[in-house]
Amino acid sequence: MATENQQSQRNVQNEPNLDENQDAVNEEYWQAIIQNDSAFDRTFFYAVETTGIFCRPSCKSRVPNRENVRIFKHAQQALAEHFRPCKRCRPDEIQLPDEEWINQIVKWIDCHYHETLTLQNLAERFHVSPYHLHRTFKRIKGRTVAEYVQQIRISTAMKHLSSSNHSVMDIAVSVGIPNAAHFSTLFQKKLGLTPTEYRRRMKEKERSYHEGEGSIKNA
Ligand SMILES: [Zn+2]
Repeated sequence: MATENQQSQRNVQNEPNLDENQDAVNEEYWQAIIQNDSAFDRTFFYAVETTGIFCRPSCKSRVPNRENVRIFKHAQQALAEHFRPCKRCRPDEIQLPDEEWINQIVKWIDCHYHETLTLQNLAERFHVSPYHLHRTFKRIKGRTVAEYVQQIRISTAMKHLSSSNHSVMDIAVSVGIPNAAHFSTLFQKKLGLTPTEYRRRMKEKERSYHEGEGSIKNA
C-alpha cells in the first residue's frame, strides 16, 4: 500500500503540467495511445483536433497524427472545449454523469457556503471553465450557482435568527455575508422582512404556538 502511494506521488511529480487542465503529449502518453493501453484509461483522455472527437487511451480507433492530439485529464474538460465523445470507446461514460458531478458540487457548497465563493474559484476547484460550470449547474439545478449559494445562506440565517440569540451581524458573518447592510438588503429582498423583523415574528409565532398547544390540551 505504502509503495503504491509512493509510486503515485512520483507519477504526479513527473507529470509535465502545462496548466491545470491540459498536458503535453509526452512520450508516455503517446505510447499509451499507439499501444491502446487500457492501464491509462483513468489517467487521461486524448482529443484529435482534426476530427473533433476524444477517446480513452485504449480506443482501437485509427492512430491520429501526433501533432493533432490534445491531452485532457478529465472528460469534462474535453467536453467543455466542444470535443465529442467517441462512439466506440465512450470516454464520457468513464466519468461521472453531469448530475452526479453537480451534486458533488452542491454537497461541497453545503459545507462551505460561509466561505468566499465565486463561480471562478468553484470552477478552479472542480477543474472546469466557469462557463461550463455555470451552464451545467443551471441545466441540472434550474438555478445559477450564485442563486443556490444565496439561497442556502439565507435559509441558514433564517434558522439561526429564529433559534438562537446571536446578533444579526454575527449571523450574517456566519453564513458568509460579512457585510451586515448587504445581508439585510438580501434578506429583505427574499422575505419582505428585515432580519430583526423576521426574528420578532418567529418568536411571536413560537409563543402563540405554545399557547395554542396549551389550549388544545385544556379542551
Ligand atoms: Zn475512441
